[in-house]
Amino acid sequence: MDINSITVAAYIVASLLFILSLAGLSKHESAKNGLTYGMVGMAIALVATVAATIDVSEYVDHRALVITLMLAAIAIGAVIGLWRARIVEMTGMPELIALLHSFVGLAAVLIGWNGHIGGAHLSEGDSVALGDIKALINIHEAEVAIGIFIGAVTFTGSIVANLKLSARMKSAPLMLPGKNYINVGSLVLFAILTAIYVSMDTHHFISGDTSTGATVLLGAITVLALALGWHLVASIGGGDMPVVVSMLNSYSGWAAAASGFLLGNDLLIVTGALVGSSGAYLSYIMCKAMNRSFISVIAGGFGIEAPAGDDKDYGEHREIHADAAAELLAGASSVVITPGYGMAVAQAQYPVADLTAKLRAKGVDVRFGIHPVAGRLPGHMNVLLAEAKLPYDIVLEMDEINDDFPEVDVVLVIGANDTVNPAASEDPTSPIAGMPVLEVWNARDVIVFKRSMAAGYAGVQNPLFFRDNSQMLFGDAKDKVEEIVHHLS
Ligand code: NDP
Repeated sequence: MDINSITVAAYIVASLLFILSLAGLSKHESAKNGLTYGMVGMAIALVATVAATIDVSEYVDHRALVITLMLAAIAIGAVIGLWRARIVEMTGMPELIALLHSFVGLAAVLIGWNGHIGGAHLSEGDSVALGDIKALINIHEAEVAIGIFIGAVTFTGSIVANLKLSARMKSAPLMLPGKNYINVGSLVLFAILTAIYVSMDTHHFISGDTSTGATVLLGAITVLALALGWHLVASIGGGDMPVVVSMLNSYSGWAAAASGFLLGNDLLIVTGALVGSSGAYLSYIMCKAMNRSFISVIAGGFGIEAPAGDDKDYGEHREIHADAAAELLAGASSVVITPGYGMAVAQAQYPVADLTAKLRAKGVDVRFGIHPVAGRLPGHMNVLLAEAKLPYDIVLEMDEINDDFPEVDVVLVIGANDTVNPAASEDPTSPIAGMPVLEVWNARDVIVFKRSMAAGYAGVQNPLFFRDNSQMLFGDAKDKVEEIVHHLS
């Protein structure tokens, strides 16, 4: 068997493993197996691609140098990847994922430019009539322009997402005047520039030299796409970031698929399409869960108006200390804990588990209410609570617990903010209006654990803190929960 057939077989096996991986990741119990399938598939794909590349490199000049450079690039990438994966905190995962998406985008741009400079090639064994050659060249040129466009949008969009998630850029949406016209206009301009690029002679027919005009045009397409990617994600507000992360995941898949067409690599096309479509579906599910319009989010916050300046007087907030909170809890018969990003930052899940055990031992009914986007990645809170060995059956989804709040004595809001903000359901002008939230304010008493009166990730003030039945317990969530546990003992 020649190396070509082995590569094709390896690619089919890898594609199947990727499909099994996605299937595994769709359920809690099979997620670990899903990851293993994915890793084995990727290892097979990598080895097959390297072997095939070494085989064809027989026809290139400086073969040893080419192979050494490729292996060095793989080694450097592997070292950086292993190092980052080992040190990343759970709270830093979404920004790392956003950064990885930007690499896929950048790779697609570089592959596109390589396709432009190298021109179209016929593969060995292709028998094409002379008249069809122009059509094939046109297809190649369209692939170059589209691949670069999707890749560049993904690249800058993911960088903005990374900056927003790591708080190095404000999470509030950028509101340029006529932003929807900017987005639609950029798409129209891209279509026109691509049509011109495809219809012109990008290479000299005899010498094969690249035309300067075509290079300048492709440069313009690249800059346009880079600017559009930046603008699309910068225009989306903090509350919608979970959807943006999965949307960029989808874009990175399409960028990889576009590169697959350019390189004539079937595995890249299949894998890109799997990532692209599963990411798009996840974005759709998240939009539904958060009552957001899918089109509005993928179109860069299309239709979202600038929030009115928030100079409203919410009144005074009340404070409570750990000893009084412990007393309130000891006298309660039903307690609900709604954790958020702050519990992850403080790593308060262990004392929270101690507190739960103490209260249950006293006969208090303790349950958890989990918002679908609490924290910084889907399922974030569930993972933390499982880590602290809290029983699954008292951890409920938002929809399962929302109607019960009027019968609850005390709600402990531990480091959550946007996910318990009544403005989402009561103030139609709020940037998070329409997003379903945990209706904690319907309980008898609410204790909010946080360090200050600062806003949550979406940058919106929370009227819950000023309600008559709410009290603020200021300080690090872990310290404060530990103090309460101490008072209860
Ligand atoms: P928020 O970001 O709205 O609020 C977290 C709160 O925790 C802050 O108000 C902060 O207040 C407090 N906090 C931070 N550190 C500590 C600490 N050490 N001790 C005590 N409190 C602390 O979190 P939510 O979980 O309520 O909402 C999630 C937000 O993140 C939503 O807007 C969501 O859209 C967005 N998001 C979610 C993603 C997902 O997939 N789940 C992905 C990306 C974004 P203070 O500083 O005063 O202490």
